[in-house]
Amino acid sequence: MKEFKAQSKKLLDLVINSIYVNREIFLRELISNASDALDKRRFLSLTDSSLDAEFCIKLSVDKAARTLTVSDNGVGMTEAELEDNLGVIAASGTESFKKEHGKTDGDDLIGQFGVGFYSAFMVAERVAVISKKAGDAAAFKWESDGVEGFEITPAERAEIGTDVIITLKADGDDENYSEYLESYRLSALVKKYSDYIRYPIRMLTEKTIEGGVKTEEETTLNSMTPVWKKQKSDLGENELDEFYMHTYRDYRAPLMHIMTRVEGAVDYTALLFIPSEPAFDYYTKDYKRGLSIYCNGVLIMDTCEKLVPEYLGFVRGVVDTPDLSLNISRETLQHDRRINAIASGLEKKILSEFDKLLKNDREKYEKLFDKFGKAIKFGAYNNFGADKDKIKDLLLYYSDKHKKLVTYKEYVQELKDGEPILYACGETADKISMLPQIEGARENGNDVLYFVDPVDEFIARMLEDYDGHKFQNLASSAGSAKPTGDGHKKLLERIEKALSGKAAVMPTDKLKSYPVCLAAKGDVSLEMERIMDAMGGGVKAERVLQVNLDHPIIKGLDNADDGTFADTVTVLYNEALLAEGYKTEPEFLAAINRLVELAIPTAAPAKKPATAKSATAAKKPAAKKSTAKPGTTAKKPSAKPQSDEQ
Ligand code: ADP
Repeated sequence: MKEFKAQSKKLLDLVINSIYVNREIFLRELISNASDALDKRRFLSLTDSSLDAEFCIKLSVDKAARTLTVSDNGVGMTEAELEDNLGVIAASGTESFKKEHGKTDGDDLIGQFGVGFYSAFMVAERVAVISKKAGDAAAFKWESDGVEGFEITPAERAEIGTDVIITLKADGDDENYSEYLESYRLSALVKKYSDYIRYPIRMLTEKTIEGGVKTEEETTLNSMTPVWKKQKSDLGENELDEFYMHTYRDYRAPLMHIMTRVEGAVDYTALLFIPSEPAFDYYTKDYKRGLSIYCNGVLIMDTCEKLVPEYLGFVRGVVDTPDLSLNISRETLQHDRRINAIASGLEKKILSEFDKLLKNDREKYEKLFDKFGKAIKFGAYNNFGADKDKIKDLLLYYSDKHKKLVTYKEYVQELKDGEPILYACGETADKISMLPQIEGARENGNDVLYFVDPVDEFIARMLEDYDGHKFQNLASSAGSAKPTGDGHKKLLERIEKALSGKAAVMPTDKLKSYPVCLAAKGDVSLEMERIMDAMGGGVKAERVLQVNLDHPIIKGLDNADDGTFADTVTVLYNEALLAEGYKTEPEFLAAINRLVELAIPTAAPAKKPATAKSATAAKKPAAKKSTAKPGTTAKKPSAKPQSDEQ
């Protein structure tokens, strides 16, 4: 006997002992394997006519032996394939998924990864697989109880193909396995899960003929019509959902589907799905985007990338067209102009369906945008914005005023001619809502859009304006600053000097309760600088400290001595850094301490409150300054709280 690989054992356990999972799906899994094997043989038969046959799947039961057999005349397996395919299972994906999502029950995992063949052990005490491969003289039997291992022995099978023979478990108090021996039950399961399988699924069913005599006849249980070829009225309840979930190994029903039939230069039918969550590997390079392409119900290519643009890579589905030849190679297919025609038709269709959803079912659209908005935004920004106009009306942004998501169109409806679209950038909506510069906009009754994705500002720059309204970053120095008198000018110059080149200084009226905020002048915004930094750096924003001349702290600065002035400017500048999400400078803490000492009468009168004489002096730890030797005061300024004070 050969042992299962360790991974397989773990997974088997998970499958078999998962009480949540819908056991009945085992039949769907076996039928789906049979169908795949038939696809493979049919493909080979295109070039080797000796492999042609009347392809079908058969179900048969033996009530006395408690067996259910799923047979196919598909491609079959060699001895080595029996061992490799059924003895090992690539469970690594499952493991990492489990870790990532912290799921422990098998329910979701089975749906996600289709442990396929192994699901038979949910209902089986033993499983035997007898198979004969096309081109092989001998047949082999694989057999296992699904616990420790399996055995492979020579066997008899006249024709090419595979039988999967399931010996059902004994019925228990709550468990009824015998139901899988009943033809009505099996027939219902086939209808429910496997109706679209393109090969006939046949079974002997009992039939009562005239005179009450019972006889058996072979009937085909499935309609064999692919779901996308069915009329709406013929589709069973949830049939599309079931098809999606099984085909794409997703345990969640799709968020929406799009069905389209086009007759024109190229005729095609497409059935597309928008998942309710991105696939677990969507943001990795393992994710294969694309749609399957069929020619009159026969699969030509599993994932044809060309059929959906990159930014709609999350869309799944199938395209069926009679206009392509079955023998077309994958290479040629990707460059076929008919494929390009279908692709551009589908892109339009998808975007127009999104638009409809946005108008008719906002809640659902917001869900979609929540999951795939980043991808959609990428479409607006990619290719130097070539597609931006197709996409701009599908973008949603959080509105500061309305506390909900709005489109650009909705935003500009409230603007007067020439008024800009105000936006603010930040990591999260919470952080943006607390930016100092947003206060002025609020007081003036202006709305502000929150840009939380790095690409948002790039899109805005690409668009330049929406309906004639220019985009304006609240953290840019542009905007209406009040004219300043001589006194103000002097003060601003003094602040700028104290900042010694770190930032320019400008007055602003967009602040209310805050004395200062950080902005950028020129082409590079603070947000862009951050993005560039994350990508390796290079481009720097020209920083501007914007000053609220009406603020009491700023007014009071006029009377401050040089030391206090320098410390206050340090504190203000660092406050502005903090509000923008930057780290503070090392001299910040020392400056705070000195200002606090000034404000609070100190307990030790012997120590004169130290004040910085200049910006350089402000860098030194304060309290020890009067007593410490030169060597110790020169110690590196630290961003950690100073303990010198005790
Ligand atoms: P999956 O179908 O997801 O690959 P399974 O565990 O269901 O995983 O099957 C493992 C492999 O065993 C299949 O990929 C296929 O190569 C082979 N196999 C399973 N059932 C059959 C069958 N009826 N005929 C031929 N090969 C089969």
